[in-house]
Amino acid sequence: MIVRFLHHPRLYKHIHKKHHEWTAPIGIVALYSHPIEHVFSNLVPVALGMVYIFLFLMPNIILMCVVSSLEI
Ligand SMILES: [Zn+2]
Repeated sequence: MIVRFLHHPRLYKHIHKKHHEWTAPIGIVALYSHPIEHVFSNLVPVALGMVYIFLFLMPNIILMCVVSSLEI
């Protein structure tokens, strides 16, 4: 969704064009990008995933561990 937004003509010329200079279809090319694109396409999604894990999944995992240890 962020990449689609970066294809807007005003943003593409200044931010996303650098990413398309490299034509090899390999994953590491995602890192070859403008710093603004790198933050919003590569770093923020990973950080949000970590926030999700620590806020929502970790309490459930800890609760399951506690409950399963009590049942033994
Ligand atoms: Zn693109």
